[in-house]
Amino acid sequence: MNILEGLNPEQEKAVKHFQGPLLILAGAGSGKTRVLTHRIAFLINEYRVKPWNILALTFTNKAAGEMRERVQSLLAEQADDIWVSTFHSTCVRILRRNIEALGYSRSFTIYDGDDQKTLMREIIKFLNLDPKKYKERTFMNAISSAKDELVSPEEYEKMAMGDHQKELYARAYREYERRLHDANALDFDDLICKTVQLFKENPDILEYYQNRFKYIMVDEYQDTNTAQFRLIHLLASTKGDNGETLHNLCVVGDDDQSIYKFRGANIKNILNFENSYPETEVIKLEENYRSTQNILDAANAVIKNNQVRKDKALWTQHEKGDLIYLSQFDSDYDEASSIAAAIAAVTRSGQADYKDFAILYRTNAQSRIFEEKLVTNNIPYRIVGAVNFYQRKEIKDMLAYLRTIENGLDDISVKRIINVPKRGIGLTTIDRITSYAIEHETSFYGALQNCDYIDGVKRSTGKINSFVNLIESFKRHLEMDGYGLDDLIKEIIDETGYVKLLEEEDTEEAKGRIENIEELVNKIASYIESCDDEEPSLSGFLEEIALVADIDNVDESNDLVLLMTLHSAKGLEFPYVYLVGMEDGIFPGYMAVTGDDPEEMEEERRLCYVGITRAKKKLSLSCAKARFRNGEMQFYRPSRFIDEIPRYLIKQTGPAKQQTTQSAKKTSGSYSAADFLKMQPKMQQTPIYKKPDAAATTWNPLAEKKVKQKQHQASGIGLLDNPLIKKG
Ligand code: ATP
Ligand code: MG
Repeated sequence: MNILEGLNPEQEKAVKHFQGPLLILAGAGSGKTRVLTHRIAFLINEYRVKPWNILALTFTNKAAGEMRERVQSLLAEQADDIWVSTFHSTCVRILRRNIEALGYSRSFTIYDGDDQKTLMREIIKFLNLDPKKYKERTFMNAISSAKDELVSPEEYEKMAMGDHQKELYARAYREYERRLHDANALDFDDLICKTVQLFKENPDILEYYQNRFKYIMVDEYQDTNTAQFRLIHLLASTKGDNGETLHNLCVVGDDDQSIYKFRGANIKNILNFENSYPETEVIKLEENYRSTQNILDAANAVIKNNQVRKDKALWTQHEKGDLIYLSQFDSDYDEASSIAAAIAAVTRSGQADYKDFAILYRTNAQSRIFEEKLVTNNIPYRIVGAVNFYQRKEIKDMLAYLRTIENGLDDISVKRIINVPKRGIGLTTIDRITSYAIEHETSFYGALQNCDYIDGVKRSTGKINSFVNLIESFKRHLEMDGYGLDDLIKEIIDETGYVKLLEEEDTEEAKGRIENIEELVNKIASYIESCDDEEPSLSGFLEEIALVADIDNVDESNDLVLLMTLHSAKGLEFPYVYLVGMEDGIFPGYMAVTGDDPEEMEEERRLCYVGITRAKKKLSLSCAKARFRNGEMQFYRPSRFIDEIPRYLIKQTGPAKQQTTQSAKKTSGSYSAADFLKMQPKMQQTPIYKKPDAAATTWNPLAEKKVKQKQHQASGIGLLDNPLIKKG
């Protein structure tokens, strides 16, 4: 296959770029990711670069997987040696080889948000702070921001001097680091910043990787934070044939799609790239290959309201296409019902498959109602984000067993399971063992092994010893030939009696939990199967799981409607996109609407731009007049972003259409879409959406309303943010 075929001249220029820094700054859907993959292929085929000298970095495993696939289709088996991976996976691989230089052992554990929270709770207690007043989250955010900026506990302490609040954070940070280190554990931010530290302190290790990764490529560069910038910057200098220093670094991104500021992303990284590397070649791509012109016009109209941006406008050779659909509903339930019914109607008519649809919303909490309605309509779907399989209690318990077996230094895991299932080891006993561990500078598990010598736990030593023996016997078995991870998980299930207890419970909930555990057993089987050359190992399995971002649960071959937050949708594309909950206070979010930080509003607007530009063929915007928030009915006006889209690009859907056309005739074309929604008084009383015929027999808005109020009150919706996003 000709690698240059089907590229436009600017894309071709970028693909052919050989050495030195290259910046591709371009709008959504202009082929940035495509250029990256073609350039990898071109480097190998035409410039004879060795595949293992190439490193391609992205943010999600899904994006990395897609990139690898695209390269594979261009290159066949040579693609196997290219490192195409996320920042985090790359760093894990580097640390697994070299972390001993930083005083950790190579079998380190990776803590997820939940583990961090548990640890932070302990630290708050340890610092004698009132847990009602001091929330784990606040401390975790402060620490995480510090790590994003590569600020060490010592530096933080210095900066905090005189600021009481920050001094507290500093103390917590120091203690947090100490405990992580003692547990031989790293949190997610550590993966990047420990790698940077490793490189800074060990020039020989850095040099090895500089020579290994002679060509580095980064997708979605606009969302890199300071730590990631440093990492790339350190890696990207290699020696040329004549001993000269080369920066073979190619970054692609779109300043209009920078949406991770709250997670430390630094938009300056992309805006100042040319300053960091004066010899940079800059290439701009403007032609969009994804969407129709109407969709692009809407995206351009919204984003041009941002002050801080490099001006660019997307255009396409595609036809104008459908107008943007807009509907306002009485409630969020009506919104979800109608969308589910519409998807059912379109798929039933054979015009599209389920997988052609995506429903995008601002926060994860919004997904639940859509789930209900999709289930009612028999529509297969998958939520990307909120219901993370690995966050479920029974799965976390099983994983804690596995982690304990793998790394007994991981106190959090050991404490999680010491009484699961119940073994009658009391809290006082656990406290005494904890104190002993601190006093003797050993791990909690190490203290358990010595429980015969601990004062005040005599009555429990029998129970503790049998727990320790259980873990030790798992360890021994795992070392036997022919005994695999699949045997281990089954033995854990049997020996602990975990599933048996659930069976005895005999409730729907318990059944669900058993199914989840069965799914974990399946996961282990598929992990073992996926290990071609490498030996399957417990550490390998745990690592794979620790790195599974939620988007990875998506199985491409499945024909499913996808639901996700706008943040998760970055880089993806779908023929039909529903942007839902378009209300001021929902999207843009409450903080942006009520606060007076223009930067915050601009970030929300970029998110809207990301959402609009995911659509290839049809884009539908919708809002509700009322919805429950925190258990109370709240009323909302349509999003100001709807307002920013010119009226002539919008098509109102629903029974109010006739009336709409009349009022539209009376007034000149200068009013906005939101004015247009307000203009129709009758819509205040009647649902404005016309149901597709398919759903006509099942739809009864009044009956539905009663049910929905109950459900809402019971749900106690929490504003979960995307778990991919750690601060929120
Ligand atoms: P985003 O900003 O959303 O990440 P992007 O700039 O990375 O978008 P791609 O995902 O690479 O854009 O491309 C968008 C779509 O356009 C893809 O379906 C891609 O295959 C297609 N495309 C890109 N360039 C061309 C081209 N020259 N000819 C035909 N199709 C193209
Ligand atoms: Mg892309």
